[in-house]
This record gives sequence, C-alpha cells and structure tokens, in this order.
Amino acid sequence: MGVFSWNCEVCGQSIKSPFGERSCTPPQAVAWQNKLVAILPDGKVLRGYYDGYGRVNDGPGPWPLTHEGESVLDQKTGPWDYTQRKQHGDPAVWHLKCYEHAGEPTEYPGPSHPADDQGHFYTLEDEVEKAEEFWKANR
Ligand SMILES: [Zn+2]
Repeated sequence: MGVFSWNCEVCGQSIKSPFGERSCTPPQAVAWQNKLVAILPDGKVLRGYYDGYGRVNDGPGPWPLTHEGESVLDQKTGPWDYTQRKQHGDPAVWHLKCYEHAGEPTEYPGPSHPADDQGHFYTLEDEVEKAEEFWKANR
C-alpha cells in the first residue's frame, strides 16, 4: 500500500508525507505540515513527524524510529491497513502548528477525514496558497 494521510482537524489540509519530489524531506514551504499531533481513540497523544505510512516518528525522515517507541497504530503489525483500522479505529490528527493554535485539545474528537491527496500528491503552490489564506483568516 502506498502513502496515505488524513486532513488536519483545524485547517483541513493534509498531514504531509516526508517525501519530496527528489528527496526524503517534504518541500520546505509545507514542511511544517509534516509535524503532527495524533490522538488515538484510546486517548493516547502522539507528537512527532509523519512517516507517510501511519506512523509518528521523533525526527524528520528517513527514520529508523517511531515516536517514543509507539506507532500511530500497532508497531508489531506494521503500516496501516484496513484490518488495523477496524481493530484500533482511526486517529484524529492536527498539524502541530494548528494543534497549538487550537489550544492543545486532549479529547479524541472522532476520526479525521482521509486525505484525498494522500499527503503526497498535491500541488505545492496550491497548498501554500491555501495555508496563507487560512492563516490570514485565523490569526
Ligand atoms: Zn492544519
């Protein structure tokens, strides 16, 4: 299965995968959208960098690590798949910046929407423009 993602609870843009066109880092203009906070249905809060495959890591990619030894789902069974979704439920996700802007909620609000762009197949200019518009309206 390829990369996948969810849309941020606050701004609605996707949590970005760590992969740029020619590198293992997201384009600089949207790199902040790779930093996320995820709240799992059981209330666990994870902060870190998104790996593009359902895991939160403690540094920008490429990573050998998961965030504090935890994945968004079950580390032992590897990346996300539908079986795990049924077992664990979908996480709620925020860009770190948006999470802080929202006052760092601690309650699980229900699952975030899957991202149509999979956190990867977006047009950089469009994403930058959407973000600029959002932050202009939500200072
Ligand atoms: Zn956001």
